[in-house]
Amino acid sequence: MTIHSDLASAIGNTPLIRLHGPSEATGCEILGKCEFMNPGQSVKDRAALWIIRDAVERGLLEPGGTIVEGTAGNTGIGLALVGCSMGFKTVIVIPETQSQEKKDMIRLAGAELVQVPAVPYKNPNNYVRYSERLAKKLAETEDHGAIWANQFDNVANRQAHIDATGPEIWAQTEGKVDGFICAVGTGGTLAGVAAALQPKGVKIGLADPEGAALHSYYTTGEFASPGSSITEGIGQGRITRNLEGFTPDHSWRIPDSEALPVVFDLLENEGLCLGGSSGINVAGAMRLARELGPGHTIATVLCDYGTRYQSKLFNPAFLKEKGLPVPEWLDGESRILP
Ligand code: PMP
Repeated sequence: MTIHSDLASAIGNTPLIRLHGPSEATGCEILGKCEFMNPGQSVKDRAALWIIRDAVERGLLEPGGTIVEGTAGNTGIGLALVGCSMGFKTVIVIPETQSQEKKDMIRLAGAELVQVPAVPYKNPNNYVRYSERLAKKLAETEDHGAIWANQFDNVANRQAHIDATGPEIWAQTEGKVDGFICAVGTGGTLAGVAAALQPKGVKIGLADPEGAALHSYYTTGEFASPGSSITEGIGQGRITRNLEGFTPDHSWRIPDSEALPVVFDLLENEGLCLGGSSGINVAGAMRLARELGPGHTIATVLCDYGTRYQSKLFNPAFLKEKGLPVPEWLDGESRILP
């Protein structure tokens, strides 16, 4: 037993657990890294901590300073909580389409929240571009200055997974891991774990949601992004700096109709309440398992906790509106409060 000196030191070292249904269905050991057990309930606490530490070490962030970021939500929650524990203010810019639960949590964590329309990167009001401009403005007006966290192109994000997530998986499996796969938001998790484990012979897979362009890029060299997904926090259309130098060994595009039943089964049968991106990841792990064949061990990340999406992913009316399958147990007497 140890006593952590602060919130930051309680980030990481998350459990790796066997996912029984997916393991039995494939004849492999499919393992999920419980990133929802971080203090901010997502994998992005790691990136938040590494980005803040890096900015402090490089003298860019002074006590009382402000951290500005554009995020689908989880990085904002991580930055707000870690920032608070270290004496920084946070301003978060989020596309208005993200779940209400994440927006509420960002405000609860003490950050100032700016909502912008969900528009493509080429539009100046895109959340990433808006946050960059806002950071520049606040750097001039705030007493203790401001920085732009820039999670997509700040490689301190990837470094969190090179230093910690990858080595943790290696140590937890005692080196007996054959494959790792996950989806990409910034690419920090996938490229970082790949940098740590690919040189050790671990096969790395990309699990792309529909509407993302990386599966197309890595298989044909062209960016094409057919379809769409209700998952949040993933789905990239360019090679971010965090992805530079990375190449997956395998790649799949995974539809929501395959990923969401995985989320529902894990909740119904294994007590694991997960967000949609974890469904893409575990469905991807099952594809990688089938590719490598029975007897292999595949790890993935369980990115965040399902209660963050109660009004969408676990809401029968929302699923039906999107034409997505609704499990019988969710559709019967409602588990959602009116
Ligand atoms: N899942 C969720 C729920 C996320 O919020 C994110 C980050 N936006 C990811 C997956 C992807 O992680 P990364 O940014 O490291 O690619």
